[in-house]
Amino acid sequence: MRFLGSCLIGLLVVGLAASASAAMLGFRDADTQLATEQAFKTRLRSEDQANWARSLTARPHHAGSPQGQANVAFIAQAFESWGFEVDVETFDILLPFPLERELELLAPTSFTASLIEDIVTGDESSAQRDEVLPPYNAFSIDGEVTAELVFVNYGIPEDYELLERYGIDVTGKIVIAKYGRSWRGIKPKLAAEKGAIGTLIYSDPGDDGYAAGDVYPDGPWKNASGVQRGSVMDMPLYPGDVLTPGKPAIKGTRRLKQDQAPTITKIPVLPISYRDAQPLLAALGGEVVPPEWRGGLPITYHLGPGPARVRLKLEFDWQRIEIRNVVARWPGSEFPDEWVLRGNHHDGWNHGAADPISGLVALMSEAKALAGLAKAGQPPRRTVVYAAWDAEEPGLIGSTEWVEKHLKTLDEKAVVYVNTDGNSRGFPSLGGSHTLEPFFNEVANAVTDPQTGVSVAERLRAVISTGEDAERRADLESREDLRLNPLGSGSDYTPFLQHAGIASANLAFGGEGNGGSYHTLYDTYEHYTRFRDPGFVYGVTLSELAGIATLRMANADVLPFRFSGLVDNLQTYLEEITELAETERAAAERVNTLLVSGKYELALDPQKTLGPPRAQPPVPHFNFAPLQNALADLTAVATQLDASLDSNLTPTELVAVNRMLFRSERQLTSVDGLPGRDWYTHQIYAPGFYTGYGVKTLPRVREAIEAQLYEDVDIQIAKTAATLAEFTNYLRDLAELLAEK
Ligand SMILES: [Zn+2]
Repeated sequence: MRFLGSCLIGLLVVGLAASASAAMLGFRDADTQLATEQAFKTRLRSEDQANWARSLTARPHHAGSPQGQANVAFIAQAFESWGFEVDVETFDILLPFPLERELELLAPTSFTASLIEDIVTGDESSAQRDEVLPPYNAFSIDGEVTAELVFVNYGIPEDYELLERYGIDVTGKIVIAKYGRSWRGIKPKLAAEKGAIGTLIYSDPGDDGYAAGDVYPDGPWKNASGVQRGSVMDMPLYPGDVLTPGKPAIKGTRRLKQDQAPTITKIPVLPISYRDAQPLLAALGGEVVPPEWRGGLPITYHLGPGPARVRLKLEFDWQRIEIRNVVARWPGSEFPDEWVLRGNHHDGWNHGAADPISGLVALMSEAKALAGLAKAGQPPRRTVVYAAWDAEEPGLIGSTEWVEKHLKTLDEKAVVYVNTDGNSRGFPSLGGSHTLEPFFNEVANAVTDPQTGVSVAERLRAVISTGEDAERRADLESREDLRLNPLGSGSDYTPFLQHAGIASANLAFGGEGNGGSYHTLYDTYEHYTRFRDPGFVYGVTLSELAGIATLRMANADVLPFRFSGLVDNLQTYLEEITELAETERAAAERVNTLLVSGKYELALDPQKTLGPPRAQPPVPHFNFAPLQNALADLTAVATQLDASLDSNLTPTELVAVNRMLFRSERQLTSVDGLPGRDWYTHQIYAPGFYTGYGVKTLPRVREAIEAQLYEDVDIQIAKTAATLAEFTNYLRDLAELLAEK
């Protein structure tokens, strides 16, 4: 029902629309807001985005680079020219730059890896190769190691379990892992825990290269020389400056000694191309890999260890550099102390056309249009803050330090944080806090897909409806709203959501402009405008999506937070972890029974080295009742509250109610943080300790089960239930406030 008004108004000029006014979450007068949004849309220009992207991607612009500083000036100047109050806020952080990178195969044959990416014809930017930071993993430790090589597939926990069954111990070895299936920083973390002394990571052409599609410059996929750079900082512990956990990296903050910084890797790690990986993999002996471990190279993949023996030498220049965030404010005309925040980073690993400039130019378009509206007499009612973050790539550093510096102010004033981090074409990816689920559904219904003419929400529904995932199809039919993806990590929303408890969202378009330019030499203007979003058509669509979200948040009478959708998602997560416990129990019982029966000995070829799995600890029955009860209470309160939020309130009541609404996400955090990582305070969403970017919902409970810490599970259930109970009490207070009036 909610969507009816805004959908019909454009289509049915006769009849309905003439008399009925539109309904919009949080607005008494939706027609005025719709008119504002229409005026906003007409001010967005794809030519602006193309021009800005041209300038901002002219040269490589990593954190601390000359072009990076020029970009800061360019962005700040643009915001100033539109009438914003602009601050360039600086932080002093530790960042390693590569000095020496050497990789050679010593036995049974010899080969020296080139470690360079080819200049390609038709891409002028790739000819500036020597200005790009060479391929490296930021926050790898320095070191020189020589050892036998072992192939570990994707280097995730289940891969090591299988290696163990082959009798392969990686202690004292160098491992080579494929990119994918986990965030890259997990690979050296896990390898070091298993005793390895070095890690190589490469993109296999089976995943990203000629087996996936035509390679650059013929197509968008990774050519033989392309290498994905990227940070390997242990961000699931804490992101931001490695020397100042939880504190801003400014003068006066006590810093850790570099050798005490827990988020720097324990072993050296280097990313390489598949051209450099192939001779190393071809030189491996030992068992042939299981079928699901095979990649797309024209070789037979073996596990090792050896006889391939490699030497890896890495040395970095550990510099203290100044990083610069551009923060631009448009003060709210009625509620200047309520801040709607909108951000995208500005640093790249290279020319950064897709990541991050395609998202940044969308943000700049929004800001220019909002300023235009404001100057034409339609200023935002709340303060809107646009931020271009520095040093996101090495570890969400600019945004994290800024949040740590302004934590108290943000706790008081931050209504919402809307993030983007690049764009492409296709359909929307909608991630965010579930108190915003109905809101973002309305927003996605109000934006038209440029290729099909239907709303971007309808396009996404069609993609899910015709997709392979039967569970997702059934789920789509079972509820009114599209689900928001829960947020893990990997971009600048993390400090806002998971440290400060600010309701957040992460938006992008994608699904059609695929390819392997990510963090390579080839993330250039040329690549982007050929393969990802020619003409910046979806750049404007992203501006509409994020811009309308920002405008509605800035102008709403009653802030459009709602709670029934959150409850529904929490129910799903509880079902998932209950099922997870059952699955683990059944699997453990099955393995243990088969071990006792001796059937593995009969089934496995005695000539092969694949041994039986390890005996599993029995999985006890956990007491999920505290969570079930907490959710039942929350359901009742949320339903009542959502219904009463539409009532008429006086201006004074509005301020009090809105304050409670936007601070509601804070109640889902706990000052104790999560086990072993107190920087992460949110009790519903966290990046996985052993998956990295991938989200773990209800992380205390889920990760205790996954890590087989069975004696902890009931304790974690109780702690999570206590957070939910406090949240319920908070909503009950709010419901009473509404009932009193
Ligand atoms: Zn990015």
